[in-house]
Amino acid sequence: MPEKDYYKILGIGKNASQDEIKKAFRQLARKHHPDVNPGNKEAEEKFKEINEAFQVLGNSEKRKQYDQFGSSGFKPQDFSGFRWPSFDDLFSDFGFGDIFDIFSGARGAREREGADLRYDIEISLEDVFNGLTTKIEIPHFAKCSTCNGTGAKPGFLKECSECEGVGEIRRMQRNMFANIINVIPCMKCRGTGKIATKLCETCNGEGKIKKIKKIEVKIPKGIDDGQYLRIADGGELGENGGPPGDLYIVVNIKEHKIFERRESDLFCNTTIDLSTAILGGKIKIPTIDGKAKLLFLS
Ligand SMILES: [Zn+2]
Ligand SMILES: [Zn+2]
Repeated sequence: MPEKDYYKILGIGKNASQDEIKKAFRQLARKHHPDVNPGNKEAEEKFKEINEAFQVLGNSEKRKQYDQFGSSGFKPQDFSGFRWPSFDDLFSDFGFGDIFDIFSGARGAREREGADLRYDIEISLEDVFNGLTTKIEIPHFAKCSTCNGTGAKPGFLKECSECEGVGEIRRMQRNMFANIINVIPCMKCRGTGKIATKLCETCNGEGKIKKIKKIEVKIPKGIDDGQYLRIADGGELGENGGPPGDLYIVVNIKEHKIFERRESDLFCNTTIDLSTAILGGKIKIPTIDGKAKLLFLS
């Protein structure tokens, strides 16, 4: 096994203090941690190396041994049983006050934005010419009013016993430098802190029911096939206080019996008799808003 310079790997001098070693490790580890470089083999190797260097230099016994005999004094299995510190651990390892502050903002269930909805509307070429105001019906999920979205039969919403209503579980871990508190959302109540002991009968515990909402939409004049209108917050409701999604109304223009549209022009075919073609004359042709006379000159 080639000799490894653990000091160089951590970018520190031979006389670095334990604090400096720790600091250098944290900085490098945050940059190369597999959690921030998913799928990046190079970063993973780099992180293993940094971790190995730290396992040795961060421990005064092993550091002494290394200073005397070099890295060949350690076997690979000296490192294999070690669990990588999680990325959160690297961030949270600053003492209790900081940990508390960091996690107090992330309590309970995660906010989630509602889904966007799409509605396809078919309009005529006349509608494009005149503009159109119409009512449309959008199927969507609405919060169940019986249980107010909790999914529990009224009176049967209890505090979660697993997390005591907090919505998250804290676990204290010790390593050689600090106490680390891991905070994870409670699996039992999915972070809400509450458990339904009987399900709401209106929504079968879903907390939401399918409904139809009618909304009025104004399609502006001159809209093109495939263009859409976006109605902000017109989509599905967000979860746990998250914002609603948007509603997209996609416009499809029906084929017209007479006209073909090319950008802002309309084309139509008409036939004239031979004498009009030779002598000139008047014929009537259709237009989108009535009829017009067209004068042919010979
Ligand atoms: Zn309900
Ligand atoms: Zn819970």
